[in-house]
Amino acid sequence: MPRPIQATIHPAALAGNLARARAAAPGASVWAVLKADGYGHGLLRAAAAFAAADGLALLEFDRAAMLRERYPTRRILMLEGPFDPADARQAMRERLDLAVHSAIQLDWIEAAAREAGKAPAPVWLKLDSGMHRLGFDAAGIEAARARLEAFADPVTVGLMSHFANADRPGGIEPALDRIHAVRQAHSGPCSFANSAAVLASPVAHGDWVRPGIMLYGGSPFDGRSAASLGLRAGMTLASELIAVRRIDAGESVGYGSTFTAPVSMRIGTVACGYADGYPRHASTGTPVMVGGIRTRLVGRVSMDMLCVDLEPVPHAGIGTPVELWGDRVPIDEVAGAAGTIGYELMCALAPRVPVRVAGPADDPGEG
Ligand SMILES: *Cc1c(COP(=O)(O)O)cnc(C)c1O
Repeated sequence: MPRPIQATIHPAALAGNLARARAAAPGASVWAVLKADGYGHGLLRAAAAFAAADGLALLEFDRAAMLRERYPTRRILMLEGPFDPADARQAMRERLDLAVHSAIQLDWIEAAAREAGKAPAPVWLKLDSGMHRLGFDAAGIEAARARLEAFADPVTVGLMSHFANADRPGGIEPALDRIHAVRQAHSGPCSFANSAAVLASPVAHGDWVRPGIMLYGGSPFDGRSAASLGLRAGMTLASELIAVRRIDAGESVGYGSTFTAPVSMRIGTVACGYADGYPRHASTGTPVMVGGIRTRLVGRVSMDMLCVDLEPVPHAGIGTPVELWGDRVPIDEVAGAAGTIGYELMCALAPRVPVRVAGPADDPGEG
């Protein structure tokens, strides 16, 4: 038997979150972002749940090949474009939309198009609107567009950008100023908005939005819960108590003895640790649901186990179910208690954790 730990993916929640994104950006088409294996939910599981999306967006070319095989006709956008000439050739063969952020990528795309004797799928010129990781400045966009217009066959040229601060009030204003000038001269489709901008900045929606985290039930905003945004957890991480004991006042729990019981306490040991993807830096007090009751982590998380305060759960014993995150324990709260964000926890779910997919019958009521 495997350890009792298990992750459950909720396709109905993923599909509902996609509907929420669509409702927030009613005029726009939606690229469902499923890089990093669908933010840890599984690439093909996520792609199936997002059947209603207008397109799928990711950045790993090996994963794109898997998607193209499964979905011969869906639009697929490569968010960082080709990493080498072979990627550009793959994009020609598999009809992948390509973001382009540098002139060398245009060299590769031109060469691949020449070799194939046809025009590439749509190319999305990426404007650096202030993040300063990837993208052209305004003059670079013009130069790139001129090169694409010189192609023998016409190429659809989109304009995209990515916000550095869409999760903060007023955070996109400086980026919008930079986008505005370039957009004036642009006649093709535009795509700017991540989840935060989908939810908070209709002015930035453009023709195609690119939600990621919200589709998986994570909040893009610090201090605003996913539930308050109408989102449901796409993943539950659950386990069980494998040991229960009572310790005396003054006794400590776990490596480093970082938690000392102020009074005599019942302590439960859960089969989940940082080698499962639970954050080691989660501090005493991090919420954990045990037997349907919210209690707290105590002491340091170890590789395979963590300990919980069973004082609020007198009925708990070996085998009592534990939710580490899911609808009842928001992943964003766990992440916050560990000094990180929900994105990181989802993506870091460890391969050793068995994953099951909730069926239509057990999905809606389950949390
Ligand atoms: C990851 C990513 C997104 C999605 O961002 P979220 O904050 O998860 O919504 C959108 N666009 C690009 C280019 C990305 O890399």
